[in-house]
Amino acid sequence: MTDLLIQGADAVMTGRAGDAARAGAVDIRVRDGLITDMAAGLTPAAGEEVLDARGCVVYPGWVNTHHHLFQSVLKAVPEGINEPLFGWLGAVPYPRLTRIRDRHLEVAAEVGLAELLLSGTTTCADHHYIYYGGLDSEMGDVLFEVAERLGVRFTLCRGGATEQGRHPGYPNDLRPETLDQYVADVERLAARYHQSGPRALRQVVMAPTTPTFSVDPSTLRELARAGRALGLRLHSHLSETFNYVEYCRDVHRMTPVEFCGENEWLGEDVWFAHMVHVADSELPILAETGTGIAHCPQSNCRLGSGIARVPEMAARGIPVSLAVDGAASNEAADMIQEAHTTWMIHRALGGADAVTVEDVIHWGTSGGARVLGLDQVGELAPGKAADLAVYDLDQPRYFGMHDPAIAPVAGGGSASVRHLLVDGRVRVRDGAIPGLDLAGLRARAAEAVAELY
Ligand SMILES: [Zn+2]
Repeated sequence: MTDLLIQGADAVMTGRAGDAARAGAVDIRVRDGLITDMAAGLTPAAGEEVLDARGCVVYPGWVNTHHHLFQSVLKAVPEGINEPLFGWLGAVPYPRLTRIRDRHLEVAAEVGLAELLLSGTTTCADHHYIYYGGLDSEMGDVLFEVAERLGVRFTLCRGGATEQGRHPGYPNDLRPETLDQYVADVERLAARYHQSGPRALRQVVMAPTTPTFSVDPSTLRELARAGRALGLRLHSHLSETFNYVEYCRDVHRMTPVEFCGENEWLGEDVWFAHMVHVADSELPILAETGTGIAHCPQSNCRLGSGIARVPEMAARGIPVSLAVDGAASNEAADMIQEAHTTWMIHRALGGADAVTVEDVIHWGTSGGARVLGLDQVGELAPGKAADLAVYDLDQPRYFGMHDPAIAPVAGGGSASVRHLLVDGRVRVRDGAIPGLDLAGLRARAAEAVAELY
């Protein structure tokens, strides 16, 4: 591991909230994966590599808390492009669940993680749910291998179901796993990959695909207990659409958050994707239990699901993080674009003071690390992990900016990441991922699309 000095940036954002969000034009010293010093005018020490950040701004690396990497080769599938969630599920991922092989997943993960790195993301939590009885592959291992190769801090949220899928379009011949099979694979993955600690590079999370219909309530409780006994966090989808909430009220006679509370699925070790349709009565429960949200505004816009009440959640102290969701319902996996959309849509709803760029950066970095339990990640300060993105303001969209610190989020579009570090290691250098053959990856992605069409 090389000692590094990031020198000459125009501005540094810390990922902290409020007045602590800006560190000014400081240099950043990195030793053994950690930030050791942040001050103006630092001079290079002997043996230290200098990364030139002149004309750039530095952010903490984004922490993407909900993704489905397998969908990176299912973007813009025509049958699903104008469908809401359930129609889209039946048209895009479900018919292909048994056709996705390890080689497709490998290409998809490379595409998705490369896109994340090149938008300034250093941590990805992937909710992988292609698991069924008789599956003859170890897809979780494939994802960890690709993350290792590209150097991303990676959390595998091990999805799955023990109930037969009831959605239109769900393959009838797909047998669910048994509870024992599900738990055994989580135990295997945890033993092999899971690290505890505030800057873990590899984590495993217990994550049935949805709590309200992928498993029955007693199984849900079993999974929570099994996950917690292994020291794992809990994650799932919740309240993405009206239909989801109606189903829960019809079948379980409770709101989704009440249902999760009844079944031991709330707490500081739990976060849910979406929560677009949350009742007034559910907000205090989320706040009291410290249950977090992965806010996925672009996927929610794309599927016409609605807009989560995120500024209100944050004001109540509910942990807020940002996520891209699967690229099959976003068409991209770009955290800068996700952050830009977050900034825009909550202002459209709540007025120009509803959310600041500083809020959005805080949610997407420090907020993400909090829901993943990575206390040493997501902020730029001495003692924190050196996970950071150096954005070059070299495009016309940034020319004329009076406040360069907010330029990547306020300007939106595709960012120019000049350098990116994960745990102090350079994973993007001069705008490229070292060792990644992009032309080759594009060709392999096109092959996967042809096979999965
Ligand atoms: Zn999702």
